[in-house]
Amino acid sequence: MTKFLKLSLIFLISVANAYNLVDIKYATKDNFTKEIVYPKAKCYLLENVAKSFNEAVKELAEKGYKVKVWDGYRPHKVQFKFWDIVKDKFEHPEDYVADPKKGSRHNRGAAIDITLLDKDGKEIDMGTKFDDFSKKAHRDYKELSDEVQKNRKILEETMTKNGFVGLPTEWWHFDFQEALKKPQNYPILDVSFDELEKK
Ligand SMILES: [Zn+2]
Repeated sequence: MTKFLKLSLIFLISVANAYNLVDIKYATKDNFTKEIVYPKAKCYLLENVAKSFNEAVKELAEKGYKVKVWDGYRPHKVQFKFWDIVKDKFEHPEDYVADPKKGSRHNRGAAIDITLLDKDGKEIDMGTKFDDFSKKAHRDYKELSDEVQKNRKILEETMTKNGFVGLPTEWWHFDFQEALKKPQNYPILDVSFDELEKK
């Protein structure tokens, strides 16, 4: 089982070259923990998830957008590390990071964090930055400019059409719908980035 899943976790950038930027925030200090949490700036997803994502990327390209990826598969070990950092920093750490005992969809290779770029590769206005944990990042937040609402709508509609579901509290986070419906088919994985790179 583990072996099969290991093989099916694929490096995202090799699947589609239409999206131009992989900027894994947790491999830098530019994230809410202010610490480097990932040893590698790589984005992996399960193969079927990556294929669906690729379709969404193609569609967005047709609409004149590129995509920037902020996060994908997160080894389960890293989730614990994450938890260790946030539990000391925040009063309600579970508001920021999934409890490692339950795991995040990111641990299942079935979630992705993204934003849109214009055709020149510049980030377009989505109202907040990545990992803004305020209400402003919520999908039902309405006090946003028409432009921001339009931008968020394009991203959400395209991802939804291609099999993803947006997390209500984070406009950038999308779960693979099937992984929500059948979590038993999407177990938590703990293959390290180093192991993935070797295969
Ligand atoms: Zn996410």
